Amino acid sequence: MNLKDIGEFGLIKKLSGGCLVRKNHVIKGIGDDAAVFAHPAGEVVLVTTDMMVERVHFLRNATSGYNLGYKSLAVNLSDIAAMGASAREAFISIAIPENCSIEFIEDIYDGMKQLAAIFNVNLLGGDTTGSQRDLVINVVVVGSAPKEEILYRSGAKKGDVIFCTGSLGDSRAGSHLILNEIKGDSEPFKGLKNAHLIPKPYLREGKFLARCGGANSAIDISDGLSSDLGHILEQSRVGAHIYAEKIPLSENLKIFCRRFNFDPVRYAVAGGEDYTLLVTIARDQAKKIAEKYHETFKNPLFEIGEITDSNQLELEFSDEKKEMITPTGWDHFKK
Ligand code: ADP
Ligand code: MG
Repeated sequence: MNLKDIGEFGLIKKLSGGCLVRKNHVIKGIGDDAAVFAHPAGEVVLVTTDMMVERVHFLRNATSGYNLGYKSLAVNLSDIAAMGASAREAFISIAIPENCSIEFIEDIYDGMKQLAAIFNVNLLGGDTTGSQRDLVINVVVVGSAPKEEILYRSGAKKGDVIFCTGSLGDSRAGSHLILNEIKGDSEPFKGLKNAHLIPKPYLREGKFLARCGGANSAIDISDGLSSDLGHILEQSRVGAHIYAEKIPLSENLKIFCRRFNFDPVRYAVAGGEDYTLLVTIARDQAKKIAEKYHETFKNPLFEIGEITDSNQLELEFSDEKKEMITPTGWDHFKK
């Protein structure tokens, strides 16, 4: 079935079921000119938006609608997680080319609704339009937090310990497997592809870090460690020393790197789209907070380095001396 058969309003009606997971504060969801909802008293509003464009961020024939919907929301939830806030409402705008089936769009919404339900996020509206060629999905997420809890990129201080919440490089490897159409459904390769297709938003972990009292800055790793840590360094006017061998690498990534002859540490450093959080914590509190984190999430916070006053990002590899690096992550306009 195509959009032509049921029209814009028919589609919206089809998609609007199962969009509300927390109803009590929603006065109007999908169906009027604007959504109306109440916000927790005493908390500030956070708004983030991220767009996924066919042939730029994804290939329609290399992903499922479900995964695409899941990821479109996940990358937005990751931004809210990196601020240490809670995600509450989402808005989805979609530009649909004629050759895209209604079933594919419904799958997109299934993926989004599944993830939204896990994190208690309502889908409260959006916009629908046609497109000449490419499918475009734009998501807006509204979050909430007490003003004094929010984690900014600009708060890192000399001496802070730098941690990340999960392994790096898996998404890059998954993307390599998908783009090069490398077949093989071994568990490690499936795991890497999933890391790329359906990334985990670290919302609960972000909230924990924002509340722990010792975290000074945070960012989610969307473009790559050097690039994203670079944003913290620039905005906080500090430097960093990273011990490359401490960067967490998954067993899946090690298997992948052996197979394709990549250096796993360098591969992980330059990888993007892992959506793990990078957080800097005051040294005197770091150990205690990392222990509490481990206890709470049954996963460690990985210590990978420290904030310095050098105004540079130094990467120390075990096999050689220090390397000063310039950000190598993804930039849409620099290629
Ligand atoms: P208007 O013409 O006033 O912009 P629309 O027809 O675009 O109204 O939207 C009608 C309702 O459907 C609104 O509540 C809007 O938020 C919702 N909506 C439209 N497109 C989408 C979509 N792709 N996903 C979710 N909600 C949508
Ligand atoms: Mg509209």
